[in-house]
Amino acid sequence: MQKLVVGNWKMYLTANQARSLAQICAAQLNDLCRENDIKLVLCPSAEAINGVVQAIADADALAVGAQDCASEQSGAFTGQVAAASLKEIGCAYVIIGHSELRVRGAESDDQLEKKLQQALAAELTPIFCIGETLQEKKADQTNHVIKEQLAPLKKAMASFKSLKKAYIAYEPVWAIGSGLVPDAPTIENVCAQLDQELQGYSDRVRYLYGGSVDADAARWLWQVPHLAGLLVGKASTDFQLLKKIVGYKQ
Ligand code: PEP
Repeated sequence: MQKLVVGNWKMYLTANQARSLAQICAAQLNDLCRENDIKLVLCPSAEAINGVVQAIADADALAVGAQDCASEQSGAFTGQVAAASLKEIGCAYVIIGHSELRVRGAESDDQLEKKLQQALAAELTPIFCIGETLQEKKADQTNHVIKEQLAPLKKAMASFKSLKKAYIAYEPVWAIGSGLVPDAPTIENVCAQLDQELQGYSDRVRYLYGGSVDADAARWLWQVPHLAGLLVGKASTDFQLLKKIVGYKQ
């Protein structure tokens, strides 16, 4: 089954830098991705999307995703980008609920559900992020937090029976940018919980791991049975690291 590597470029790159990196990825990673049956989804910041879409136009193993979308279809929402616009300019995926946005914007479950609805209506494949904070982990609340965080996704999916596919990225907040990665059994436990919580959607929902994925972590993360791929932040802005992450999949 095809695996996904999602590069969340956050705000690390300018529009020109993002286009250049996408050109290099298109030229040098497309064949490797095809050989390893990987779809490489590049997620630049909004202003860089057009350039990245153009840069990967001839690379069929690559795709473009957005880092967020608006919770509304259109209207007086300064600074927001509509899911339908993202689709129009060539995005196929959208990250929703990233912890950096959940924390900063204090996104409510209602907003997240609406974002998911907008993404699904625009035929973007959502990459929905969940994961506990360090405090929640220490308090042994991971399972509880994950159950709660899944609610918007469950609601959105229930109203989109024709939904083809959604990805859930397990990204413990304490692992993002920290160099720490949970061990395989911890990731497997979360995936097993997701299986339980999402009974009835199992054919349409797949799981990613994200948080401090680098080349070393990728080696063993590719062996974790439940995972359909990796969500990579900082390391995905370094071409050599990204190449290793893609190349280590057997
Ligand atoms: C992320 O924030 O989505 C992420 C995976 O970040 P990093 O790999 O830099 O920890």
